[in-house]
Amino acid sequence: SSNRGSSGIFQRRTVSGRVPADLGRRRLRIVVTGGAGFVGSHLVDKLITRGDEVIVIDNFFTGRKDNLVHLFGNPRFELIRHDVVEPILLEVDQIYHLACPASPVHYKYNPVKTIISFLKTNVMGTLNMLGLAKRVGARFLLTSTSEVYGDPLEHPQKETYWGNVNPIGERSCYDEGKRTAETLTMDYHRGAGVEVRIARIFNTYGPRMCLDDGRVVSNFVAQAIRKQPMTVYGDGKQTRSFQYVSDLVEGLVALMEGEHVGPFNLGNPGEFTMLELAEVVKAVIDPSATIEFRPNTADDPHKRKPDIARAKELLNWEPKISLKDGLPLMVSDFRNRILNEDEGKGL
Ligand code: NAD
Ligand code: UDP
Ligand code: UDP
Repeated sequence: SSNRGSSGIFQRRTVSGRVPADLGRRRLRIVVTGGAGFVGSHLVDKLITRGDEVIVIDNFFTGRKDNLVHLFGNPRFELIRHDVVEPILLEVDQIYHLACPASPVHYKYNPVKTIISFLKTNVMGTLNMLGLAKRVGARFLLTSTSEVYGDPLEHPQKETYWGNVNPIGERSCYDEGKRTAETLTMDYHRGAGVEVRIARIFNTYGPRMCLDDGRVVSNFVAQAIRKQPMTVYGDGKQTRSFQYVSDLVEGLVALMEGEHVGPFNLGNPGEFTMLELAEVVKAVIDPSATIEFRPNTADDPHKRKPDIARAKELLNWEPKISLKDGLPLMVSDFRNRILNEDEGKGL
């Protein structure tokens, strides 16, 4: 196919073919799977704002129509309720493949169904999107995760590190699912000449995060707003590095538009213990907020921090927003949604 190699999107035919004034290039038609989710909806906003056409594919497993409702009626936006586990025919220039149920360790209600759906989405869903990319000559970007490094023995983590993953642990389906998705992506690249990009995303936070998927930032912020104690798992000395969502979106677009396959770590190297995170949330939301210790989950990574030298050098990208500056930006969104929930319950 003439679309192979790294000739770059600017020389390629585009599906829609029109040239928007503000782009100085042809308008692209772009699929975002998982576009009704937290990261996806911010990415869609960015792509629509710069003038492209966006088709979101989402089955609303963890995503919400509310995240996209402001785009309904925009002629360059389309939302399809569809499970990527099933094949789909579309004509597009780029595919951002984000669809993935949020971390299944947090699903208390139906763990088996969630784990199966997780693995199917990562394997069958990624396969279908790669098959689509191959058929139409689209460029494909996978949002992988820092979880592929497992409980890392190298710190900070570089992309060259192969990871330390327990294949039979409670959180393995997430790590191994994404590792398989990376494998499929590279196999389609090498074997079928599909243009691919791989991002390894580190913990990200911001407005529109799921309120109840159990991630630490959403938990602490929601708990502090509800005047409940913040639940610190284990001794709270484990570390994570938290990235604000707009920084991630900039990185994803730079990766898609650039000439390098990756994988690239996309994260903020600012590293915090969970106790330190609780202190920041307390300072930002409520100085009287308290913490409560809870037992930790098995195989919880002890520390995690991205080495982003590769992305800095090859994508000219680095995050700009610190935790202290980013946290306040999600508080009003969380306050509004928690208020609406309470009203819904007649409180
Ligand atoms: P999210 O749960 O808000 O979004 C995922 C979206 O995918 C949801 O809208 C969900 O409904 C949709 N989805 C799930 N299964 C699907 C299926 N089978 N078919 C169609 N749609 C499906 O999560 P997010 O935080 O926005 O994550 C987006 C991507 O980034 C995911 O691939 C995730 O693994 C990756 N990632 C996120 C983080 C983070 O900290 N947020 C960290 C590492 C990796
Ligand atoms: N696929 C899809 N949309 C397309 C092209 C392919 O959903 O436009 C799916 C297809 O159904 C298959 C998968 O992607 O399950 C992999 O496709 P590929 O052509 O690579 O493999 P094959 O169909 O030859 O097994
Ligand atoms: N965590 C916590 N309290 C919570 C939720 C999570 O202390 O209410 C801890 C969790 O044990 C882990 C860290 O916060 O060490 C990050 O968890 P999260 O699920 O947000 O991300 P991941 O483990 O996938 O990096």
